[in-house]
Amino acid sequence: MDFPREEVWWNGKLPICTPRLISIPRLIVSRTPLMSWVIHLKLFENSLKAREGTRYMTYLIVVAHPDDEVLGAGATIYKLSQVGEGVNVCIMSGEANARNNRPNTDELKNDARSCMSILGVSRIIEGAFPNIELNTVPHLKLVQFIEKAIIETKAEVVFTHHPSDLNNDHLHTSLSCQSAVRLFQRRNDATPLKELLFMEVPSSTDWALNAAMHRFTPNTFVEVGEEGLYKKIEALSQYRGVMRDFPHPRSIEAIKGLAAYRGGQAGMFYAEAFESAFRREI
Ligand SMILES: [Zn+2]
Repeated sequence: MDFPREEVWWNGKLPICTPRLISIPRLIVSRTPLMSWVIHLKLFENSLKAREGTRYMTYLIVVAHPDDEVLGAGATIYKLSQVGEGVNVCIMSGEANARNNRPNTDELKNDARSCMSILGVSRIIEGAFPNIELNTVPHLKLVQFIEKAIIETKAEVVFTHHPSDLNNDHLHTSLSCQSAVRLFQRRNDATPLKELLFMEVPSSTDWALNAAMHRFTPNTFVEVGEEGLYKKIEALSQYRGVMRDFPHPRSIEAIKGLAAYRGGQAGMFYAEAFESAFRREI
């Protein structure tokens, strides 16, 4: 089978940078030897990017399926794109095959295009690896596909799935991404990685039942506000068959509730939470 077909099927433009200064507070929670939580509040380096002449960061969201990027980081993507940051999305399996409610592949691409337009995504890189069967693809093929996306987008900050996610495709995407982001240590032409973050996908990451696994433990919170939250819901609603009725985790009420809870953990007005797995400061 010809798994690693790559198709860049949409290359939109960045939204116009808004002149206002928006900071992305970053909450780092670290554990002391006494197991008490020590909280340090820092700012993302890109918090001052709205100033003219400041270099923008390049982000890459590596996910298994269309809609994972919105569920995990939609409001953050929107926030970043609004201040002129370059946000790219790499989807491993863009196929509609084995997808609930089965939109055809063209419909799924159109849904993704509408969604990414709302969020201000610069570029989508889409693979055709088999849906719900990423475990059948050689690990090296997945890694090389992500490495190519990293090279082409010059990604500095990478978001991907948490490795304890229940979904098998999410697991293999996360494992492959962890290998791929090490690329800068092997190739001089690769942009050095600044940070790797794991995200949570409602209805999947939260269903990590194996207590032997290291479960999603957020230590980075991005305040998204009401605007970011509603843009996330609007973007997610572009995918037919994804939203469910309350109390499903992919219902409007549950998504809003999670954003409120994550915000409350960090003293913020709605937030998305991430687990920073690797951070490199020069
Ligand atoms: Zn998924």
